[in-house]
Amino acid sequence: MATTAPTTTRSLRSFTRRDFLRAGAFLAGLYGLGRTGAVTLAEGLQRLFERKQLVLWLQCQSCSGCSVSFLNADHPGPLDVITRMASLVYHPNLSATQGEQAIETIRKLIRHGHYVLICEGAIPLGMPQACLLAGQPMLELLNDALRNASLVVAAGSCAAFAGIPGAEGNATGAVCVRDFMEKRDIPVDKRLINCPGCPCHPDSLVATLAYVAARGYPKVNPQLLTPDMIYGRSVHDDCPRFHYWQKNAFAQRFGEEGCLFKLGCLGPLSYTNCPHRQWNGGINWCIRAGAPCIACTSPEFARRRDFAFYRLGEKYHAVTYHEHERRGDKS
Ligand code: SF4
Ligand code: SF4
Repeated sequence: MATTAPTTTRSLRSFTRRDFLRAGAFLAGLYGLGRTGAVTLAEGLQRLFERKQLVLWLQCQSCSGCSVSFLNADHPGPLDVITRMASLVYHPNLSATQGEQAIETIRKLIRHGHYVLICEGAIPLGMPQACLLAGQPMLELLNDALRNASLVVAAGSCAAFAGIPGAEGNATGAVCVRDFMEKRDIPVDKRLINCPGCPCHPDSLVATLAYVAARGYPKVNPQLLTPDMIYGRSVHDDCPRFHYWQKNAFAQRFGEEGCLFKLGCLGPLSYTNCPHRQWNGGINWCIRAGAPCIACTSPEFARRRDFAFYRLGEKYHAVTYHEHERRGDKS
């Protein structure tokens, strides 16, 4: 463990089975997983906290937003994430180890194997020098880390779908983790989980890690490789403004009541459960705050120049309708 862990008053032993069950039940409640899910997540959290599941975190082309988001996790909280998730062997922002020593730590873990690799950011395949660790391009280290990991989690839309670094123009030849693995003949099947979002929601990542620690590879969408338990339903499906949509009652200006579709809302394209777990500890989220969903979990997010964050007018929504039909949503 190489993190600069702040001191805390609770020792690992002071976490009881009841604490893990409570945290597991909370996470399961957010994702509608029921009692069995609560027990599974509690078991997974306990394994993570007992260092039974090693975790390596590597960053490529990212703004570190998914790392910052992860540190805002509530269950467990940020202090616990840093101090208790001792199985986090290396993290570029949290670890005291840097430079050559960091590479040594990572290489040692790669040789050991049996770890979950979390990748944050897209991979600059066309410009390897765009991502360096200790002055060396990350690509080969990443290649070996991906090959020897028992499981890989692509955290955030950049890692999952290339996101903003992979947008039209793409000067660095950025690719997502899946494309990189396929180009390097690194097995993807039942090894890669995509957890998109800009950023990835901390509870989604913690729940995924806990599930993986307890039960291994989860049930995923076969095309997107996103866990069904988190990304199975669209924002639109469970949106509190859905009744306006059904009545064709659309807001014409920001701040008005009504469905935000005609103000550019892409909730029908974004598969994740923001309406239930919300953000910032359940305080609020985009649509409740009156802002249209910009589909930050969608593979299309920020990819095309003519695909602005907010799309006004009907013609830009052709893709929305098309995607909606493709996924078989009849609403
Ligand atoms: S279009 Fe947006 S605001 Fe309207 S119901 Fe769907 S997700 Fe909610
Ligand atoms: S509501 Fe949409 S844009 Fe906002 S965080 Fe959720 S998926 Fe992303």
